[in-house]
Amino acid sequence: MSKLYFIPGSQDLYGDECLAQVREDCAKMVAFFNEKLGDVVEFVLMPTVETSRICVEDMRAAMNDDECVGVITWMHTFSPAKMWIKGLQILQKPLLHLHTQANEKLPYDLIDMDFMNLNQAAHGDREYGFILAKLGIPHEVVAGYYEHEDVLAGIRRFAEVAKAIGFSKNLRIATFGNNMRDVAVTDGNRLEAEIKYGWEVKYWGIGEIAKLADEAEEAEVDAKMAEYTSKYIMDTDNIDAVREQARYEIAFEKFLQKNGCCAFTDTFQDLFGMKQLPGIAAQNLMAKGIGFGPEGDYKISAFSSVLMKMAENREGATGFIEDYTYDLTPGKELELASHMLEVPASFARTQPKIQVHPLGIGNKADPARLVFDSVTGDGIQVTLIDLGDHFRIICADIELVEVPHPMPNLPVAQIMYRHKPNFRIGTAAWCYAGGAHHSVVSTSLTRDDIAMFARLTGTELIVIGDDTTDADLQKFYM
Ligand code: MN
Repeated sequence: MSKLYFIPGSQDLYGDECLAQVREDCAKMVAFFNEKLGDVVEFVLMPTVETSRICVEDMRAAMNDDECVGVITWMHTFSPAKMWIKGLQILQKPLLHLHTQANEKLPYDLIDMDFMNLNQAAHGDREYGFILAKLGIPHEVVAGYYEHEDVLAGIRRFAEVAKAIGFSKNLRIATFGNNMRDVAVTDGNRLEAEIKYGWEVKYWGIGEIAKLADEAEEAEVDAKMAEYTSKYIMDTDNIDAVREQARYEIAFEKFLQKNGCCAFTDTFQDLFGMKQLPGIAAQNLMAKGIGFGPEGDYKISAFSSVLMKMAENREGATGFIEDYTYDLTPGKELELASHMLEVPASFARTQPKIQVHPLGIGNKADPARLVFDSVTGDGIQVTLIDLGDHFRIICADIELVEVPHPMPNLPVAQIMYRHKPNFRIGTAAWCYAGGAHHSVVSTSLTRDDIAMFARLTGTELIVIGDDTTDADLQKFYM
């Protein structure tokens, strides 16, 4: 279970009675958070920072606990911020500055100097905010009474983003084959990706998978086929082609587990020893939270698994998508985003059908794939690109819609969406920003989640939505 350490601030100037009350109020607050947000993380109350030494010990504990994904701090009383310098210099995990109080209302009839000494977040949290700014430490601030819904929502978002960042820092990606030979946006600096996001991008030959697939026992393949038919409708007579995909999924699962990987890539330019391009195998794995990128796209593979982790406590669908073609009817412009095969089954609104069709490229056997209609509603499309000297996240608000007409000759999962504020500005902004044709679409996450991830990881962010104007497009001209 992931944890957030709750570290309150005070000092030893106010006497034991005051410090005991700080402790009692913090324990009550942490119990409340565990009751309301315990489905996401566990909140752990740490010793009150009364001295620099205690702060260092608290932060060391946060860094040494692999289950701790972040820290929440709150200054119940004044807490001279020089006491926080050495501790904060140790912390390398997401930080939330909770600007709150133990009391919602002022007790006007009773308030005296003891009350003022005990409850002075307005004083102590500003002193603390100064030292965060002075040290240049990325952090979030959530302000308001801690029991209020908007404050709880802010802490919940921080917990989910912090958990995703913790996952990212330990993420290992298996790349089978390299980057597709001439594709630009899928390439980048793997070293920088590991330094910034923690992604260990490991290379293996696809022959490793071909071998494991060949070695899969018939009973294992039968079990995988039973999994498929329990979830999906068998809509083909070519059972052998589906069993071949079942072998691939078994092979990927074994390999990823053995090597501690939660994401992978393949490329149809290197399918040595494979009869088909992985289709249903990749689609089914993505629906289990495994990141995937085609064409050797390790960035989108890693990023999609991180965002799936961020969304794991929410309703809706999150996963890899590839942009393809447009309907440019004036005023009704739509995009059809169906990759050749690899649309995650988590986007299914209708029960997916297992079908086998030719692929048209790659010179391999016809691959089995899942065909379905997509969920609809408001969502975001997000991508991450490597510009050499920095990474950039681009996040566009979209609306997923039903397909306006059936497409009986297109044998892939079909996802359609409307761009915001409109096609002209939305897609032009994406192009100016250098947005990839590989991205993550989510009906669970919002721009605010992505913005928090970008701030806490120090990543440049460009947002596109109803508030994007022609004037904004001008900013992209360099
Ligand atoms: Mn592509």
